[in-house]
Amino acid sequence: MPKVLVIGGAGYIGSHVVKALLQSQYSVRVYDDLSSGHEINLFANAEFIKGDILDYPSLNEAMKGIDAVVFLAAKKAVGESMINPEKYAVNNIVGSVNVLNAMAENEVKAIVFSSSAAVYGIPQYVPMDEKHPLNPLNFYGFTKVETERLMQWYDALKGIKYTSLRYFNAAGYDADGDVKGKDKEPQNLLPILMEVVTGKRDFLQIFGNDYDTRDGTCLRDYIHVTDLATAHVLSIKRLLEGKESLIVNLGTGTGTSVKEIVIAAEKVFEKNIPVKYAERRSGDPAVLLASNETARKELGWEPKYTNIEDIIRTFAKIY
Ligand code: UDP
Repeated sequence: MPKVLVIGGAGYIGSHVVKALLQSQYSVRVYDDLSSGHEINLFANAEFIKGDILDYPSLNEAMKGIDAVVFLAAKKAVGESMINPEKYAVNNIVGSVNVLNAMAENEVKAIVFSSSAAVYGIPQYVPMDEKHPLNPLNFYGFTKVETERLMQWYDALKGIKYTSLRYFNAAGYDADGDVKGKDKEPQNLLPILMEVVTGKRDFLQIFGNDYDTRDGTCLRDYIHVTDLATAHVLSIKRLLEGKESLIVNLGTGTGTSVKEIVIAAEKVFEKNIPVKYAERRSGDPAVLLASNETARKELGWEPKYTNIEDIIRTFAKIY
């Protein structure tokens, strides 16, 4: 079976991708610096190299004998990217250059990249398809646009085929409990809410309740991490069949509001979840919703988790 290098394979999404690749009989090598990933997320039947994408010689060594790359390693705190863009420029853009150069040097011709709905900025229409204009509101989103552009050039000049997966709101954990690492410094709604459920925090802050939505709170497209992982496997398979480069949104196409998330979690965990309303968070659009037609058509992908309560229930595996 082909050998896949999963860069960032000890992280939240990466470890789910590794599990899915192993289940599909791929041979897997993980490359991760463990800066935000977890050692307990490593699978015994995957090789592991501890290394940084900024360390070119080490990355180049890891690329030997590889057929395809899944590239997830990146800094991902949107707020921090606005305060410390230098860190994001180096890790997310220089890091991407290193990955593509190491691929070129070792003649590895297929890459699946973790992009984000953050490339779009404020929606001009919803659901958003991949043709929606790119207008990132934060530096993090800009770094994702830049890597997509780099990949277009390395496709044209070096014949490296890519699939850029633009994730909407990743949520949940492996239903078998095989991925155990919790987010070290949660910034996202659901891991924060889980800290309220488990008593680590006293209440959840809801950022804004005066949005133009059905209940005044923001609507997001929450997609289960195992469904995301499946899309990576399908993308690798498709690229190794020799197909063209592709950009794909990954979402369920259904919006859930912050309040609806709280109500669903109260039902799942049979607990009252204290909330406090706070100011709107800057840069938050009212609604983010994916059109997933490309994923369905080009990858033959379909989300298995379409009910938010089922997604939330999977957090109980590790919290
Ligand atoms: N949110 C919230 N309280 C929190 C964290 C997030 O009300 O403590 C809201 C946030 O304003 C957004 C939604 O939850 O409307 C999802 O936010 P998250 O940071 O998880 O993902 P984003 O959509 O920003 O990528």
